[in-house]
Amino acid sequence: MTRVLITGVTGQDGGYLVERMLAEGAEVHGLVHYGDAAKESVAAAYPGLQLHSGDLADHTGLVRLVDQVEPDELYNLAGVSSVAFSWQEPILTAELSGIAAAVLMQAAFDLQERVGHRVACVQASSSEIFGQAERSPQDETTPVRPVSPYGAAKAYAHHMARVYRGKGLHVASCILYNHESPRRPATFVTRKVTASAARIARDGGGTIRLGNLEARRDWGWAPDYVDAMMRAARHHTPEDFIVATGITHSVAQVLEIAFGRLGIEDWRGHVETDDELVRPVDATQQVGDAAKARLQLGWAPTVTFTEMVHRMVDHDLDLLRSSE
Ligand code: GDP
Repeated sequence: MTRVLITGVTGQDGGYLVERMLAEGAEVHGLVHYGDAAKESVAAAYPGLQLHSGDLADHTGLVRLVDQVEPDELYNLAGVSSVAFSWQEPILTAELSGIAAAVLMQAAFDLQERVGHRVACVQASSSEIFGQAERSPQDETTPVRPVSPYGAAKAYAHHMARVYRGKGLHVASCILYNHESPRRPATFVTRKVTASAARIARDGGGTIRLGNLEARRDWGWAPDYVDAMMRAARHHTPEDFIVATGITHSVAQVLEIAFGRLGIEDWRGHVETDDELVRPVDATQQVGDAAKARLQLGWAPTVTFTEMVHRMVDHDLDLLRSSE
């Protein structure tokens, strides 16, 4: 039986990965932060999941966890998950999204030496490592030059994956572009839009305050990205993989599709621009070329952008209805 350790099980990707692994019959362990309010709901949702309370900043605790679980596969999905938050807490971001990844890699390497078999690791990296990318679309050879504290922390972890790979650890770095689902928190723009649009449709009016509507992202369907990480862990060689759709859309298009799903054509009438929400530095054009993942991992996105936004809007409508 495959034994899996996942950090960040209460997050969007963590939940989808736990589901996939349990369905496969794996023994699944998850690290959850002591103070994480989502712990109870995750425990209830996945009775087969073995939860371990801990803290990414507690290095000794992380090493002890890896030693105790002895995973065959280790997925590091934990850390600060938002660029916006990283501007408020840049040092904490470095600790949780950068240093903790290196601690886990060292622990996996030591475990591998001790048990004598492969400990396959996946580092959930991010398109934010490219910052204002010098070329588009980006691929695995694009220079890493982050422009946010989040991107810089992820860049460190990405580099460390290469370092540990050089030492003999099977560690893949999946450079994930934005990936969304109905489980995305509303701190991210897609969910903020779909949740607000559903509310406005139900109330018959209202507005949503947003930052830059022309910002473009390469948005994909989160479960597809989890699938890519599993494929990367199990690939015969550990490598860097871009995981992206290769297509960008603007925040304005998210609005158009979300409101369109609800039969509202004049979405602009419901949007107010708020300068406070415009980022000081924003990676305005990011698009990934996932040719390598497609070729080597046999991976491909299965849900289109429009379908993804529709699913999110439908879910948000259902949520409002069930709370009435
Ligand atoms: P990110 O790419 O990880 O930062 O994902 P987000 O969903 O937070 O942001 C995606 C893009 O939407 C960025 O370029 C933001 O500047 C833009 N954006 C515009 N308005 C908003 C807003 O109200 N909230 C957020 N989170 N992003 C916004």
